Order: sequence, then structure tokens, then C-alpha cells
Amino acid sequence: MSEENLEQRTRALVRDKFSEYYRTNKSTILPPPYMERREFGFLLTEGVMVRHKSFKQVEGLVSFIEATVPSDVYHSAAYYLDPEAPMDSKCWTGSDLIFDIDADHIDTECKERHDRWSCLECKATGHGKTPKTCPNCGRQKLSEDTWMCYDCLERAKEEVLKLIDLLNSDFGVNHDHMRVNFSGHRGYHLHVDTEDVKSLGSEERKAIADYVTGTGLDGDLLGLYDLDGRIKIEDGPKITDPSWRGRVARRIDKILFEADVEELRSIGLKSKMIETVRKRRKEVESSKDRSLLGLIEGFGEQTWKLIIQRAVSLESVGIDTVVTTDIHRLIRLPRTLNGKTGLRAMKVQIGELRKFNPLEQATVFGGYETVHIQEAPQFTVGGEQYGPFKDVDENLPTAAAIFLLCKRKAYPVVKPIV
Ligand SMILES: [Zn+2]
Ligand SMILES: [Zn+2]
Repeated sequence: MSEENLEQRTRALVRDKFSEYYRTNKSTILPPPYMERREFGFLLTEGVMVRHKSFKQVEGLVSFIEATVPSDVYHSAAYYLDPEAPMDSKCWTGSDLIFDIDADHIDTECKERHDRWSCLECKATGHGKTPKTCPNCGRQKLSEDTWMCYDCLERAKEEVLKLIDLLNSDFGVNHDHMRVNFSGHRGYHLHVDTEDVKSLGSEERKAIADYVTGTGLDGDLLGLYDLDGRIKIEDGPKITDPSWRGRVARRIDKILFEADVEELRSIGLKSKMIETVRKRRKEVESSKDRSLLGLIEGFGEQTWKLIIQRAVSLESVGIDTVVTTDIHRLIRLPRTLNGKTGLRAMKVQIGELRKFNPLEQATVFGGYETVHIQEAPQFTVGGEQYGPFKDVDENLPTAAAIFLLCKRKAYPVVKPIV
């Protein structure tokens, strides 16, 4: 059968299953607050994007979804007087503050295991994170094949937890004004919808993004040096300090008291310095006063710089800053399906986040489907592990089959008519 036919068959089955989902789950679709002032966008299964739609009530939205069975559903973070007008005459009146945390932007070891890239020009391929340019021919036409696993989703979640903590302690945003949604693929979105963030412009949002990512933070900004450029021993940062100063102090404390030799070496500390840290650790261990700067008295400025850099990078939150600064951004609607995986995007209560496992809780389909799998690494869906597969027919639970179909790694097998 031709590739075109296989693509059509794949699309038809995915659309069928998505349609069934929306028919039976329409009452669970959760519109964003003030839905009538938002723009809605829909990516149809044929790849066409329909934008500039608006709905006064959830019923209208639901019937549109039922009628068109889109592969992805989005709404604007922004509020408009006329959401259906062309972009420049919508009359923007404000926008939620959005943070996008995605395994794509986090360095994880598991990517070596499950992600691949290939160069469309010279056909070079490689494992792990996609490079900016092809290491073989230097061109930028690279295609990527990304998967998710428990490990990268957990890492993304850790970033969300860090972000919640930071927004709460440094910006005073309480949990009632944060909404956390699993994206249905490799990450999470966090929405802040307090009145005072709505009018922030792009520049102000950029400043918040820089703050959250610790961009440009160094010892100077943290107030760690005296006028002569020497590290302040007496008046240095304390673990009880507020905001970044305390955050960095707590992390430095952790590094100095808990990091093993390998980690200290990876920071860039020389053997002699590592020895000093280990010796002082023992001496200070028994004392109640764990003054961390006193602990490493005698360290040069360069060593301090390395430690501070590492502390900042471990405390910074890995967000996609483009999403935060874009005041017209469209963002996925919870309780709709992600066309890249067939998993459900969903709201997660902040108190439930730690134990939330999307690979178990975001699957929606029942039953079985037979598919032919071209190639797939090992993956988990619905709490079960599958694969790796290569060039085989498999009768899989529908959630796993749809996952492979959405990733275009398989196509439906038509059962012969007897
Ligand atoms: Zn190349
Ligand atoms: Zn992973």
C-alpha cells in the first residue's frame, strides 16, 4: 500500500478514536476563566490551523470540537475585546502569565536513550538532544524524533515544583492563583491569573523570565562581595535569607556539605580544594553554627565563582522563555487530547503534583488495536511498558497503539474480511 494511503488510514483511525473520546467526555472539558474574551485555535487532523474563534459558553466550544474532531485544541493566554477579529484589531486587554516547562529544554540523560535526530541534507543521524546545526555538514535542517519516559517527565515536574515555590516565596503568588496543566506530551504549563499580572507587557514578562531562570545572576548581583571585591565572610548570604540570596546560600550549603568528590570535581574544583572542603566538613559537622562562608575561608574568587555558578544553575527553573514573553500565545486546553501522543492534557492539583504520573493518569482509551510498527524504542503508556519494536504487527491496548500512530511510528493493520 502506498505511503499516502497508510497516512490516510492512520489519520482516520486516530480521528475515530479522538471523536469517540470527545463524544463520551464532553462534559469534562474545562474552559479557561473568562472564556468569552479568549481566542481559541484548533489544529485539524489534516494539519490545517483554524484560529480566531471565540465562544461565549462551553456548549458552543464543545459542539465545535465534536463537529471538527481537532488533533489539538488551544486558547489564548490573552483577553481581547474582539477575540474573532484579525490579530491587530482584537483589542488586547491583558494576558495571564504563562510558564512552559518541557523536557525539550531540560538536559536529561534519558534523551540519549530515547531521542534521535537526523539531518535532512546529509542524512547523518545521532542519539540524544538535537544539535543546533548538523555536526557533519553544518546545516540547520534537522528533523527530530523525541519520546518521553518516566525520568524526563519527573525532571520536568521537579522544575514545576521549583517554579511554584519561587513564585510563591519571591512574588507572593499563592497556590489559588496558579493553575498547573500536564501538556499531554513532555511537559507542564503553569498559568498565573492574578489581576496584577494581566497588564504586564512583553518586556516586563521578559524580566520575570530572567529572574526565574537566574539569567545574569552572579556574585555581584547577589551582594556577595565587599567593596574590594573580596567575598564577604561575616556578612555573606545566609540560608535563612529571602529570595535568590537565600536560595543560592542553601544550595551552596548543600554542595559543600553533601556533594561527593565527583560532583565537586565536575564543578571545577581542584583536588587540593576538594581536600580542604572534606577536611573542614568533618570539623564543622559537630558544630551547630554551619557558617558556610567560614567553612571555605581561603578559597579564591575564581573558586567561589564556580560554586556560585553551579548553585545558580541548579536553582534556576528551566522554562521556555519565549512562551512567557509572548502576550498573544495560544496554549493547550486541559481535558483535550494531544495530537502528538493521544494522551490527555489535564489540570493537576498542586497538592497532588508530586505523586502525579502522566504515563498512568493521562491515558484515556480502552480496548485493543492491531498495528504494524516500523520502529519504536521502549516506552510506557497507561502504566505498562512496551517495545522496543521493529517491523512487527502487534495487538496493543488502544492507548499504546494510538500513541505509536500519533507519533507516526506505526499504521493500522486492516483485518482481512472472512
Ligand atoms: Zn548534515
Ligand atoms: Zn526520558
